[in-house]
Amino acid sequence: MDFAVPSELSALRASFATFLDREVRPLQERWSTEDGTEPALREMVDEVRRLSAAAGFYAPYLPEAVGGQDLSVLGTTLLVEDAAATGMRLAMTAVAPPNPAGPSTLLLKLPEHLWSEYLIPVANAERTMCFALTEPEAGSDAQAIRTRAVRDGDSWVINGHKHYITNGADADFALVFALTDPEKRAAGGITAFVVPRDQYRVGKTQYNISDSHPAELFFDDARVPADHVVGTEGMGFLEAMAFLNAGRAYIGAQSLGLAEFALNSAVAHVQARTAFGKPLAKFQGVSFPLARSKADIEAIRWLVYHLAWRVDTEGDPLAIMGDASIVKYSATEHAYEVADRAVQAMGGMGLMREGPVERILRHLRMLRVVEGASEVQLLVIARTLGL
Ligand SMILES: Cc1cc2nc3c(=O)[nH]c(=O)nc-3n(C[C@H](O)[C@H](O)[C@H](O)COP(=O)(O)OP(=O)(O)OC[C@H]3O[C@@H](n4cnc5c(N)ncnc54)[C@H](O)[C@@H]3O)c2cc1C
Repeated sequence: MDFAVPSELSALRASFATFLDREVRPLQERWSTEDGTEPALREMVDEVRRLSAAAGFYAPYLPEAVGGQDLSVLGTTLLVEDAAATGMRLAMTAVAPPNPAGPSTLLLKLPEHLWSEYLIPVANAERTMCFALTEPEAGSDAQAIRTRAVRDGDSWVINGHKHYITNGADADFALVFALTDPEKRAAGGITAFVVPRDQYRVGKTQYNISDSHPAELFFDDARVPADHVVGTEGMGFLEAMAFLNAGRAYIGAQSLGLAEFALNSAVAHVQARTAFGKPLAKFQGVSFPLARSKADIEAIRWLVYHLAWRVDTEGDPLAIMGDASIVKYSATEHAYEVADRAVQAMGGMGLMREGPVERILRHLRMLRVVEGASEVQLLVIARTLGL
């Protein structure tokens, strides 16, 4: 076993750290001190994406031919961790892991003549997309979707209602999952389509505990050409699950980075602040919870790196399903506890919007539900035990 991070990835991390400091930090500081509004933030997110794409950090896991760097899952995982560990909200948009809002690797399954319209502009941060699977009646049980696609000559006609779709209001197109054979459902009856923005209606924005606000999408006789099927007709559900599984290392890495930032913030705070005549750090009631957080963070770290290494070396999303669920479950649950301890150690400042950790706690609370809630991961883990 070799637990060392390869030297070329250490060099990449160093240049990414320089990029974040030089290009992203000034924008983040400008936003925090001068403006602080959502529209201003959105403009800055676009700018960070563009700068990052130009520097080669935005979608580095994609093939070079479409604007990526052919970077390994481990390499991308380290960048996602490092971005989150800065504690800067904008930094988390500098690298777009292939999660639901990022440039999906599923787009590589489109016919090549459509890459210049959908895949390449997304890889270069010129356009954005969304991943539309969840519906009001189908969340954890995603194969229960009702959105229907029916073939009509050279087109598919799509009808249905999606909700909680990240980047739904801003995306230039949607990757939509629809029933093409209601009898078969997950076993060959769900197909993925790319649907341009002019073919669907965006409903209400869904404000929630996190700073990422998804939206409802309505498909009323949306029409796409037959070649807009992503991958194989009928195999959309399995492709979505394989994609989400392969991406678990990234959600783990984001949790890890956020937990690191929360712990570092709390450590600095309890060293600087005094109560009852000495620094808070000198009370074991304060230092032991933070020591526990350090132990949790190291456990998350090695679970996440190990999963990334397995995806890189084995490549079969089904083979790594148990490990992927362990990472999603453990990383998000334990990172949330780390953030909660950081809030407690920082007292009132832990709860303040102006403080460093309250956003982290809210974001991690959201990560315990999205992309398969903790209980759904436990179902998968139980299955690996034959239960
Ligand atoms: C901020 C945000 C962004 C999102 N972005 C996207 C996106 O971009 N694209 C997309 O398609 N979806 C997205 N989602 C949807 C998200 O993936 C779902 O909310 C999630 O899968 C849970 O589904 P649900 O909300 O319907 O909860 P439900 O499925 O109703 O579950 C409710 C509770 O019951 C538990 N539960 C369900 N089944 C079982 C079981 N068998 N055993 C034990 N417990 C169970 C769940 O774990 C959960 O705790 C987003 C959601 C949010 C909140």
